[in-house]
Amino acid sequence: MNFYVMTLFPEMVSLGLNTSIIGRAKENGLLNIEAVNIRDFTLDKHKRVDDYPYGGGAGMLMAVEPVLRTYDHIMDKIKATSNEGFKKPRVVYVTPWGHKFTQETAKEFAREENLIFLCGHYEGIDERALDAVATDFYSIGDYVLTGGELPAMVMIDAISRLIPGVLNNSDSAVYESFSEGLLEHPQYTRPEDYNGMKVPEVLLSGHHANIEKWKKEESVKRTMKYRPDLLK
Ligand code: SAM
Repeated sequence: MNFYVMTLFPEMVSLGLNTSIIGRAKENGLLNIEAVNIRDFTLDKHKRVDDYPYGGGAGMLMAVEPVLRTYDHIMDKIKATSNEGFKKPRVVYVTPWGHKFTQETAKEFAREENLIFLCGHYEGIDERALDAVATDFYSIGDYVLTGGELPAMVMIDAISRLIPGVLNNSDSAVYESFSEGLLEHPQYTRPEDYNGMKVPEVLLSGHHANIEKWKKEESVKRTMKYRPDLLK
């Protein structure tokens, strides 16, 4: 899967997604992440990419032209590497006013071959750029960050680990929080007894059916406590 990130801070994205599981998946050729600097595509001689908003208001807005020229560059690249069946990729604008990004969204995006993220900065982006290229609008939560790089990285991480082969054990992505509408049950590793804090007896019993029953009950309890909305 190929991710393209349109950003003013490409090094933030490249460095942030270069380590651990995602870094290994990149090395193994399972995914490719390219951060493209929008500033490289401005025609302004001072390399400016932002301007004052019409109608007044606080802050600056990213201008339409550099964004669209960055998009064209990425599209040329995708077209050049696609075989006959070229499919226009989805372009996700990460924004606090978008739909809430969930595990279901991650699953849906994990089926794409190419995915483009557009990161805003300052007060956001000229609406005409969004009208021209964005197909999806997603938020990582009800708070406002300084830029779209962290949200894009969060989404890329969540999507990447669902790509077959990225996690060592494919089961890990199946039995975890949100995968079946519940939160994950508590988990334990060695030692059995740490300063009197013991691992629940049932997990040591070897009785598969009882263990599964316990896990399910604990998942439901935890979901009721922390996210009762999921049980609806
Ligand atoms: N003026 C915008 C508003 O009120 O909706 C907020 C702009 S924010 C300071 C700058 C950029 O950060 C946004 O264009 C967006 O790309 C990104 N961003 C901030 N918070 C986000 C969130 N919760 N989810 C996704 N993207 C976010």
